[in-house]
Amino acid sequence: MHAIVEDSLRTTPSCFVPVDTDTTVELGQIMRNSVQVTKAADAISEHIERLILEGVLRPGEKLAAERDLAEKLEVSRPTLRTAISQLADRGLLTTSRSGTRVAQFLAPLMDPLAALLAEKPQVVDDYLEFRTSIEAEATGLAALRATEVDQEAIEKCIQRMKIAHKAEDPAEEANADLALHLCIYEASHNVLFLHIMRAIAELLHRDVFYNREHLYLRKGAREHLLSQHIAIAAAIEAQNPREAKKVAAEHIDFTSRTIAEMRRSNERMEASLHRIGRADFLANSN
Ligand SMILES: [Zn+2]
Repeated sequence: MHAIVEDSLRTTPSCFVPVDTDTTVELGQIMRNSVQVTKAADAISEHIERLILEGVLRPGEKLAAERDLAEKLEVSRPTLRTAISQLADRGLLTTSRSGTRVAQFLAPLMDPLAALLAEKPQVVDDYLEFRTSIEAEATGLAALRATEVDQEAIEKCIQRMKIAHKAEDPAEEANADLALHLCIYEASHNVLFLHIMRAIAELLHRDVFYNREHLYLRKGAREHLLSQHIAIAAAIEAQNPREAKKVAAEHIDFTSRTIAEMRRSNERMEASLHRIGRADFLANSN
């Protein structure tokens, strides 16, 4: 039974008494109320769904407490509860004792994909090839479409990156790098760029393609990456799509070359280790 109807019945037990004129009127009122509530719940769930689609509400984020949210949306708590339960049924929200969160709705797709891609060297090249074609386009769109909110989010990422850079914290710098690109996909206001790249960013978080922190440990790479990120943010702020595309393409090209170089030096290291024979590991018995 619809939750809101249940609520109405609980508060008006008189609808269970044998039908007479008064009760019929009351039952009719309850039905009208429940239809209104259902309509309101549908409108709220559509609104929340749009916010999830547009990336305003992100997977894993916790929604405000029911009472506060109902107040802000100017609906009753049962209406909000109905809307939340509709979205939970569709796998877009999760509810637990600790509250309501936006579901990690891409996880059922990405978990098996991560397992499939993990530790396959050729996948890195495919990823970088894919990223090369996507990144310039998304950054160009961000330069055309970024709102003030998007600009602020991008600026915050740059500040976070500068702090990590100064602190010589490669893990945090790599995380800020990822966060900046996610902000750019959001600022592109293209929902496919946003959700597909967000899912791929999740794979990057798990180092499925390469170890991002190692990129920031590479000699000379950190400075170069920071200046490229600053140039990307500046082109978006200047609303210059041509420049944004150019600097984004240069950034991915540099990342690709650095990763290729990291891979070559790893291979050289492995080759040298192979050359060390069994005898080198054993104590001289003579
Ligand atoms: Zn980057």
